[in-house]
Amino acid sequence: MPEGDTVWRTARELGRALTGGPLVRSDLRVPALATVDLTGRRVTEVLPRGKHLLTRLEGGLTLHSHLRMDGAWRVYATGERWSGGPGHQIRAVLATADRTAVGYRLPVLELLRTADEHTAVGHLGPDLLGPGWDAQEALRRLLADPGRPVGEALLDQRNLAGIGNVYKSELCFMLRLSPWLPVRDVPAPERLPALARKLLEANKSRAARITTGDPRHDHRVWVYGRAGRPCRRCGTPLRTAGQGDAGRERVTYWCPRCQPGPGPAGTPGRGDD
Ligand SMILES: [Zn+2]
Repeated sequence: MPEGDTVWRTARELGRALTGGPLVRSDLRVPALATVDLTGRRVTEVLPRGKHLLTRLEGGLTLHSHLRMDGAWRVYATGERWSGGPGHQIRAVLATADRTAVGYRLPVLELLRTADEHTAVGHLGPDLLGPGWDAQEALRRLLADPGRPVGEALLDQRNLAGIGNVYKSELCFMLRLSPWLPVRDVPAPERLPALARKLLEANKSRAARITTGDPRHDHRVWVYGRAGRPCRRCGTPLRTAGQGDAGRERVTYWCPRCQPGPGPAGTPGRGDD
């Protein structure tokens, strides 16, 4: 699942691939952009902003994309076989003379004036992997709605940008917080932005996402994707549930013993304790 670390790495790969020379191919397969031709322009830089990608081009244009749940940009040498999915999932192809970038399953793809990028990313809170990271401001935003469950506050990109379901679940476990604990009840809440930044920084340059410090396959995360399996700390079976407003729930994983406190609606407050 793409989170801030994946997007940071994607931006770096796209930047390396596309800033070498003018585009010789431009194929944007969404209705609104079907007639757009970017060939002849150079890509000047590719910026990650939270979970958004901004591909800036000569002439004051920015191609804005977002990966959401399973989107991806893949880079190939020209002539190499593309392998990111079936052809009907391709939303964008940009190529220089020797590199081709293919965007698969992109739920967001739009062309903006670079001067208007704020309309796409201006709502974002401090960017966990951005040059202007501001832990104080991130904390202020996280705590602005004191009754909000910490799991929901962490996912809200207006608070801090870059966290998805994996880091949300892992952060709550590492800090022994129920994801349903109101943010006002989080002890030493400054640990939230600090640990989030540390985890994303540690993972931004590697393909495998590791929060446990153990790189072995199947040992890399504490709770994410491990429902029903034993907690690595205490052995209690881990649980999973949707969290958030009805219809927009996001999956979360937690240990009912290590993370005491409120649980999902309708379950005992302290889980198995
Ligand atoms: Zn546990």
